[in-house]
Amino acid sequence: MKRLLLVLVALMLALPLAWAEDAEIPRLQGGQDRETALVLTEEQLGKQWLTYVSMDNFGKNVTNSWFRLEVPVDGTLTFSAWNVGNQVNRPCITNAKGDKLLWKSIAVNDQLHYEINATAGDTLYIEFASFGYGVAMDMKFAICYDGYHQEGVYYEVAKEPTCTEAGERIFPCTICFSTYRSEVIPALGHTAGEAEIVEEATCLKTGLKIAKCTVCGEVVSSEEIAVMPHTPDVVTTVKMATCTEDGLAEQHCTVCNATLATEVHPALGHTLGEWKDEVMATCTADGLRKQYCAVCNVVLNEEKVPAHGHAAGEWKDEVQATCTADGLRKQYCASCHEVLAEETVAAYGHSPAELAVTREATCLQSGLKEKLCSTCGVALESQQLDALGHRYTEWEITTEATKDAEGEQRRHCTNCGDTQYEKLPKVEKLFGIF
Ligand SMILES: [Zn+2]
Ligand SMILES: [Zn+2]
Ligand SMILES: [Zn+2]
Ligand SMILES: [Zn+2]
Ligand SMILES: [Zn+2]
Ligand SMILES: [Zn+2]
Ligand SMILES: [Zn+2]
Repeated sequence: MKRLLLVLVALMLALPLAWAEDAEIPRLQGGQDRETALVLTEEQLGKQWLTYVSMDNFGKNVTNSWFRLEVPVDGTLTFSAWNVGNQVNRPCITNAKGDKLLWKSIAVNDQLHYEINATAGDTLYIEFASFGYGVAMDMKFAICYDGYHQEGVYYEVAKEPTCTEAGERIFPCTICFSTYRSEVIPALGHTAGEAEIVEEATCLKTGLKIAKCTVCGEVVSSEEIAVMPHTPDVVTTVKMATCTEDGLAEQHCTVCNATLATEVHPALGHTLGEWKDEVMATCTADGLRKQYCAVCNVVLNEEKVPAHGHAAGEWKDEVQATCTADGLRKQYCASCHEVLAEETVAAYGHSPAELAVTREATCLQSGLKEKLCSTCGVALESQQLDALGHRYTEWEITTEATKDAEGEQRRHCTNCGDTQYEKLPKVEKLFGIF
């Protein structure tokens, strides 16, 4: 079975080159001239025929090698001829008016393919003539026409199909090689490769996964990758709540920073703090005190502190009263030291003491006995005490007077010690002893 298949394949491969063997080609003889030319039928188109060419000794066609074709429809006609004889042959094609459309020599073993654009109703005459005199030989010919060609299995790819576009396969005629049929080669379709992620999904946008054709690179499928969930961060305080304003805490995505949740922390309200004296109350003027928020220091309350009035303080003597002069004393406020009251302190009069010696009398000077004020020391009464006078001792000779020198005597007061000196005169010789 396998062998048979191989043979078949070999046969098919050989076919495009395998022209029909001459032995198999039917012979077709035309007429002797234009008038007697063989009229070719449609059945005779697109097939190979053998004809016999013979020339007399004068080079005149003596065999039946004239053919006539009534062109059936408008189209391209291909005349093919093979010189299988031993002399040069010169086929000739003329139209009804006698114009030569083809007049060309074919060397031995050579061939010719000639195209003519023909119109329906045209009459063409085909004649084979050898160049030799008295020659006879075979010529092989065929007239292919649109719709009349010899189909083989051989084909050419005129256009390769791609993934998306169809290609074209053309079948040349095995006789004239012209293309008589073409066939669409269907588009191959894409060959999807492995899907790849071209855009990763994030928390904000979808991703994209595509598959490309491994042949042409075109995207053959795309798939959206769902948005990723956010990655919540810890809740952080964005704004601290204050006494009067709400606070705010937020939770963000660690990847895209989108706000995922918010928490409002209500305002805390003020906290009553201490009262502070702004203006101290005095004895006479009101003061002012305020209460502040312990947190934000805003004034929450304020009130008047009434003047506390003077506080009667001690009396102070401003001017001391004396025995003879009035004094003055004032009462001050213990707080502000303002004078609250003042009054006169009456002179209290002298305080007489006992009469007493205030100065002893001396030998020479009088003394004094006074009655003094025990307070101010002013003498209220006085009596003079007479001076005592010296009370001298007896004279005492300290140096005896001589006849030559005066002597001296002295005495002193036993009270005050005052000393008196006195000269003693020189002694006179009264008694003559000396
Ligand atoms: Zn053909
Ligand atoms: Zn492709
Ligand atoms: Zn995010
Ligand atoms: Zn506050
Ligand atoms: Zn006061
Ligand atoms: Zn006095
Ligand atoms: Zn004396």
